[in-house]
Amino acid sequence: MSYVFNPTTPAVPVFQSSQLFPVHRIYCVGRNYVAHAQEMGWTGREAPFFFMKPADAILPVADGQIGEMPYPGMTGNLHHEIELVVAIGKGGANISIESAPEHVWGYAVGLDMTRRDLQAESKDQGRPWCTAKGFDYSAPISSIHPLSQTSWMTQGNIHLDVNGVQRQDSDINKLTWNVAEIIATLSTFYTLQPGDLIFTGTPEGVGAVTHGDLMAGRIAGLGELKVKVV
Ligand code: MN
Repeated sequence: MSYVFNPTTPAVPVFQSSQLFPVHRIYCVGRNYVAHAQEMGWTGREAPFFFMKPADAILPVADGQIGEMPYPGMTGNLHHEIELVVAIGKGGANISIESAPEHVWGYAVGLDMTRRDLQAESKDQGRPWCTAKGFDYSAPISSIHPLSQTSWMTQGNIHLDVNGVQRQDSDINKLTWNVAEIIATLSTFYTLQPGDLIFTGTPEGVGAVTHGDLMAGRIAGLGELKVKVV
């Protein structure tokens, strides 16, 4: 047997390594910082909810490089969402909060790029978010830092500048649902697999970018992610 054409595997570089992390699925958590939930018109602590992007929506940006994200069609309001990304190295279902850390391979800095106008329309009409969230190049991501070289993420600054001006600035300790809780809950809905990426939600300060804008995101201990909109 042979393939009718060569299969492709989206992959993300590993920090200071020649290795690649192959991507299986991309899960995303909605409204996971209180101040962002509030800016989107919500209050209170709701149960975590999830949506997905296709694995090939990643735009991997190697260390020291500036990624180029084509401005997508069908939107006039492309928003940035800086997020901590969790890379899963060991699969499982119904994972306990206590054992969640052993399923994490590493972390990265990611951008959950969003067609905010289409998302608002989807919300109004009760339609799916796929075209608002899961489009080509909608998931820029830095190299992945292995957990063996970092610490378990419970705190640390998360920040995004656009053209050198601060847009988002918060701390991982303000996640409504922390990394272990996200893994435990997500794994009740899906059997997690090695290669899964989880975008853990964005803090307040989301806003629009346009052609020529340079986004510079960083998370303490995980370095920087720079992406230019072209
Ligand atoms: Mn998001």
